Amino acid sequence: MSLLITHIGELVTNDPREVDDDLLGVRTDAAVVVDDGTIAWVGEAAAAPAADERFDAEGRAVIPGFVDSHSHLVFAGDRSLEFQARMAGEPYAAGGIRTTVAATRAATDDELRATVARHVAEMRRQGTTTVEIKSGYGLTVDDEARSLRIARELTDETTFLGAHVVPAEYADDPAGYVDLVTGPMLDAAAPYARWIDVFCERGAFDADQARTILRAGMAQGLRGRLHANQLGEGPGAQLAAELGLAAVDHCTYLTDHDVHALRDAGTVATLLPGVEFSTKQPYPSGRRLVDAGVTVALASDCNPGSSFTSSLPFCIAVAVREMGMTPAEALWAATAGGARALGRTDIGVLVPGARADLVVLDAPTHVHLAYRPGVPLVSRAWYS
Ligand SMILES: [Zn+2]
Repeated sequence: MSLLITHIGELVTNDPREVDDDLLGVRTDAAVVVDDGTIAWVGEAAAAPAADERFDAEGRAVIPGFVDSHSHLVFAGDRSLEFQARMAGEPYAAGGIRTTVAATRAATDDELRATVARHVAEMRRQGTTTVEIKSGYGLTVDDEARSLRIARELTDETTFLGAHVVPAEYADDPAGYVDLVTGPMLDAAAPYARWIDVFCERGAFDADQARTILRAGMAQGLRGRLHANQLGEGPGAQLAAELGLAAVDHCTYLTDHDVHALRDAGTVATLLPGVEFSTKQPYPSGRRLVDAGVTVALASDCNPGSSFTSSLPFCIAVAVREMGMTPAEALWAATAGGARALGRTDIGVLVPGARADLVVLDAPTHVHLAYRPGVPLVSRAWYS
């Protein structure tokens, strides 16, 4: 069954070959033909071929579906009181993760499954068509494996994050916990994971521990990514570059040396402005990274502790208002940038052969995503 989407006022293709020097490869008065979940044709509306069905976009903008390359949806419990305290001046610390670990361990499979499904549906309503989901609130062999098994029911982009924090029962034996993560826990998690991730930060794991854990996962065929440089400058960005990781996420505190290392390694810097919003930390400068030639992604980091938003339009609005990015750069980062962070070339772009993951905005241009913050602009989405 083929579908013609026509009368698109502004089509964001993310294909810079379409229009010289235009990051988003914008076409006006455009049409797209979708066939069997794949983009079959892109061009001028007046030249569009016939299709089995027809959707009239009535002059609105069409963009690639958002690619949310960083989320933690397998959890239980509520941390709204912690958020309330932070807004009243309490600092954020990585240790709050343990609150969610206790609740997650106590939850049934069906409770976790319902929570993941509810939040994925919430993301879909806001235009996200690909989501990465991490484990990391189980921190036992069985709870990490079941977290990934449940996440895998909703997405192929699953990430083993047994090294989120050292759980309370290993507080006196962090080396023993690293042995567990790189041994039996990795063996149990790897069949359900595409990625391995470590929280490399003061209060979580240091660079040597992170390197050991990432190498163990990579030896089992997982690809590496990292949480780092969130709470202060640290070794994570350099480690990500050293290991050639696809992405390093947070990047709130980077030295110039870190920025150059990421650029030279081709490692994506994934910015997570929901975290700075929800922890009252300063926002990272997207401008600095883009100007330095680093590939930038924007993601939600949706989790109950430090960033309980599932909205990439919100992240785009903050990136434009607070992080020096243009609306085009922010949209690119939330679509093509997220795809790069996941090592994917079939999503985040609207070109023939790509997956037919498209969103119709209730707006004439993509600029409205930042211009109209908090307004639900997704009027229709297709995803395969
Ligand atoms: Zn995270």
